[in-house]
Amino acid sequence: MCEVSLVVQKFGGSSVADADGVKRVAKRIVEYRKAGHDVVVVVSAMGDSTDDLIDLAKEVSPLPPARELDMLLTAGERISMAVLAMAIANLGYSAQSFTGSQAGVITDEAFGRARIIDVTPGRIQEAIDKGNIAIVAGFQGVSQNTKNITTLGRGGSDTTAVALAAALGADVCEIFSDVDGVFTADPRIVPTASQIGTISYAEMLELAASGAKILHLRAVEYARRYGVPIHVRSSFSPHPGTWVTDEPVPPEFADDVKKEAMEQAIISGVAHDRSEAKLTVVGVPDVPGKASEIFRIVASEEINIDMIVQNISTTQNGRTDISFTLPMSDGAKAMKALEAQRDNVGFEDLRYDDQIGKLSVVGAGMRSHPGVTATLFEALKDAKVNIEMISTSEIRISVVTRADALDDAVRAAHTAYDLDGSESEAIVYGGTGR
Ligand code: ASP
Ligand code: MG
Repeated sequence: MCEVSLVVQKFGGSSVADADGVKRVAKRIVEYRKAGHDVVVVVSAMGDSTDDLIDLAKEVSPLPPARELDMLLTAGERISMAVLAMAIANLGYSAQSFTGSQAGVITDEAFGRARIIDVTPGRIQEAIDKGNIAIVAGFQGVSQNTKNITTLGRGGSDTTAVALAAALGADVCEIFSDVDGVFTADPRIVPTASQIGTISYAEMLELAASGAKILHLRAVEYARRYGVPIHVRSSFSPHPGTWVTDEPVPPEFADDVKKEAMEQAIISGVAHDRSEAKLTVVGVPDVPGKASEIFRIVASEEINIDMIVQNISTTQNGRTDISFTLPMSDGAKAMKALEAQRDNVGFEDLRYDDQIGKLSVVGAGMRSHPGVTATLFEALKDAKVNIEMISTSEIRISVVTRADALDDAVRAAHTAYDLDGSESEAIVYGGTGR
């Protein structure tokens, strides 16, 4: 009765952490194949092996050349793809593995954070037409101009999977990880977080951009652009996961939809981020053009900034303080670049603070419900959490707090929006959280 569908299945590093994991994943893929479906698999490097390769590179060179670092890191996915193909062969099914380049993942030349500009999956299509299971190395591609090997940035295998799903016209892109789906908050912080049944691309984008690590931001962007339904689920359990789509879930996947899904809440989830720092430029002359000078300096270092606040200066009249948040990993670079221009810009001082946390509440319902912001601020007041910065989009409110207040803030917001489930549902099946 069931028509043949094409599914792209992506397995993350924690799902293939060791030989047993690889065998378990191989069985799961074969079961799907047995049901008559075509399967293309995208696999990440085993366990923490990408981190281990980075550590190795740093042992031989403090600043490894970007081209060589990418070449090294792609080795992690080559190992897992070949081993997985062997495990599938051992179950009596034929599988062929392909590097990103062989799979036609064409990127720009930005080593370490390359963007996919085209996917030409001719060899993959051929492999599945012949009845094989195709296994593709995640997170890697080949530069269109130079033919150098590139990587897509940490966590990029999700993006490989969605891009292949789009190029092959797959019915769904399944992202297997070590939790059952997308939760209303990180279950490690909020044990009563509940699993989301279905979420729109726009909301998932905001959650991913606000620190939720379950899906790579670019993968969600790509899925939205090409209308690829994503099903986030656990490779360790058979439970239905979370669907990311703006359309109803296709009827052939009805069994894969969580039955007791909550009614659409105003707020879909609470995300948090500990990876940012706050930089304050103190005593900036309060005249036109100074903000543009400051942010041009930061931009020329290719640093993405997030929130900005400008205040009357704490030091003297006619001056202002400008604070902004940026990835902690870019903090030293930004401080150095600004310091070098201190006299040109005419500011008095720089302050750097990496003891901050960011909380974001996301929900399409806030567009049409007044009072969502007030509820958040009341909850934070009751939890005695001080708000240092605020930013909003149409469907998101973010605040910066002290780092050590962040967990309390997340729990308070989660409760205030009635997101707590009755019992703790979330099981983290694998992974080291590294
Ligand atoms: N192996 C790469 C990483 O650890 C890519 C991925 O896992 O998606 O970042
Ligand atoms: Mg990984």
